[in-house]
Amino acid sequence: MRKTMKGLLVSIIVPVFNESANIMEFYFRVTRVMNQTGYDYEMVFINDGSKDDTLDKLHGFREKDRRIKIIDLSRNFGKEIALTAGLDNCRGDAVIPIDADLQDPPEVIPDLLAKWEDGYDVVYATRSKRDGETSMKKLTAHLFYRFIRRLTPISIPQDTGDFRLMSRKVVNALKELREQHRFMKGLFSWVGFNQTSISYRREPRFAGKTKFNYWKLWNFAVEGITSFTFLPLQAATYLGFAISLFAILFACYLFITTLLHGNAVPGYPSLMVAVLFLGGVQLTTLGIIGEYLGRIYNESKRRPLYFTQSIIGLDDNKELSRLEGVK
Ligand code: UDP
Ligand code: MG
Repeated sequence: MRKTMKGLLVSIIVPVFNESANIMEFYFRVTRVMNQTGYDYEMVFINDGSKDDTLDKLHGFREKDRRIKIIDLSRNFGKEIALTAGLDNCRGDAVIPIDADLQDPPEVIPDLLAKWEDGYDVVYATRSKRDGETSMKKLTAHLFYRFIRRLTPISIPQDTGDFRLMSRKVVNALKELREQHRFMKGLFSWVGFNQTSISYRREPRFAGKTKFNYWKLWNFAVEGITSFTFLPLQAATYLGFAISLFAILFACYLFITTLLHGNAVPGYPSLMVAVLFLGGVQLTTLGIIGEYLGRIYNESKRRPLYFTQSIIGLDDNKELSRLEGVK
């Protein structure tokens, strides 16, 4: 089996946004690992509107190493879209998205490939340990993955990032999903196929700072939930129903006590509480509906997901790139 797999092409997909301090080290480490595996490979960098000299450095690599491919997006579109651009344009028989900051150690790639050789279509890498991240980030990530697992019908593997291997079959399936709101981890699981996992230690960032602050992470979580479940909309219905029921019971109670004891107090407090509470519930419910409505609005525009400034090294046919790769 191994022997026949070796003729195949592996694509490493790397979204980069201001990663100048990391990519040199990243490039060396991936090159070392991939040379040991003996596979032909291409390293597809997607420049997501970097403002530093990331792109220049990539061009520098490309001059010496034709296995480097560069997709330059017209602006910063965010990691999910950058990944999509990589998946759309890469040509590998196996595709591995990986972060450029070396948090996903390239040394894990041979393990991913080994499972692929065993016949799996998706091999995801689960973090057994996350070094160099705050306990708050670990806790919120932990809670989020458990929460979303409860909420949505599809099973998104816990503690798994975008670092994984996918076969061509899976990538072709992913390419057909063109929604604007892309929660990649959800989409990866949604397409299905034969999946397995390996575990690895997540390392600290090699250099630079994370591009995700808590506000971005919160939006990411809302994206994940609203793209995969209607439950919050239904929750609003149940909440409204429960409150109405409570209001009816409360009205009965008031009616009876008034009959028995007369109306002692004018009842400002209860009135205010009821008004404010219901107002809050209504606004929350509208907000939830708004989240979904906004998404429907965005989808209905049917805009392309991204524009590219240039695509370097991926326009020739597959055979040619393999020859380049062998070099
Ligand atoms: N990234 C990107 N576009 C963005 C933000 C991030 O392409 O708008 C890339 C970034 O260069 C890195 C990867 O996505 O290769 C992960 O980003 P980061 O390390 O900031 O995220 P974290 O590891 O903290 O989740
Ligand atoms: Mg990172």
